[in-house]
Amino acid sequence: MDEFELIRRFFSRNRADAGLIIGIGDDGAVIAPDSALQQIHVIDTLVEGVHFPADTSPADIAYRAVAVNLSDVAAMGGRPRWMTLALTLSDANEAWLESFSRGLFEIADAHDVQLIGGDTTRGPVVTVTVTLTAEIEPGGALLRSRARVGDAIFVTGTVGDAAAGLELLQRGDSDQVLAQRFLRPTPRVALGRQLVGKANAAIDISDGLVGDLQKLLVASGVGGVLEIDAVPISDALQARFSTEEQECFALTGGDDYELCFTANPVEVAGIKGITRIGTVTTETGLVCRRDGEIVDIADSGYRHFS
Ligand code: ADP
Ligand code: MG
Repeated sequence: MDEFELIRRFFSRNRADAGLIIGIGDDGAVIAPDSALQQIHVIDTLVEGVHFPADTSPADIAYRAVAVNLSDVAAMGGRPRWMTLALTLSDANEAWLESFSRGLFEIADAHDVQLIGGDTTRGPVVTVTVTLTAEIEPGGALLRSRARVGDAIFVTGTVGDAAAGLELLQRGDSDQVLAQRFLRPTPRVALGRQLVGKANAAIDISDGLVGDLQKLLVASGVGGVLEIDAVPISDALQARFSTEEQECFALTGGDDYELCFTANPVEVAGIKGITRIGTVTTETGLVCRRDGEIVDIADSGYRHFS
């Protein structure tokens, strides 16, 4: 199978799309952007052995590569539209490609995203880069830098599951619920859209709740208090780990791809699937409290799993 055959069989699927003039097959894609909207461009690369274990199923690798980009778009409040794919493979195995393209289009279709081009190369390890273009109302993009003193801090879904799932996978224990949270993260695109015009600042959680919340607070020039007892922890995580481990995963475990945002609570009162976990303050830095007592995350062995 040569490169052209490979692209035709597994990736060439141009469908009707009002904004897409030329898709896969020419030297480049042509898009007619909606002049009433702004665009958001994101890119993420996954490298075998670095971002996913070498034995990960190709469908899960592809799913994840699209999901992490969708999560960045979600954190900006955008509507995802078009993606490109740069794929580096050590060999072009048909079964592998079949599985990969299935995972890719499963999540792309679920979010109405078109694959409009890419590049296919040979290399030492599987490397997947996806770029995604999204649209947003002018001035509507959710930024990290707009948190206001007095805002409530919220998180979507539950946190810590993905890191716990990876830990279990590495132990050869594929707890279905937790492993799926790592392998197939759920980008909060619809929630991000709902937050436009309501949240003041947002970030997606790729490196851990505490670390990513700190990035948001620093970008906004404010501080915050995080109430550890309020952080939402799933039943699955509670069933498999001690209280201390649950807290460690929830606060510092990465790969959840939930959103952390700040808002006036009144503005987001009707939104489902969010939990208030703290408050934005004037004092710079993030203070974590458990039962009203200040806890030093850095000194308490919380890095054990990261
Ligand atoms: P060129 O040599 O001109 O760069 P390529 O042979 O790399 O062209 O690509 C031919 C067409 O196939 C282009 O439209 C390109 O965007 C698309 N393409 C190549 N690889 C992929 C891929 N992995 N997924 C989707 N489209 C791809
Ligand atoms: Mg060319």
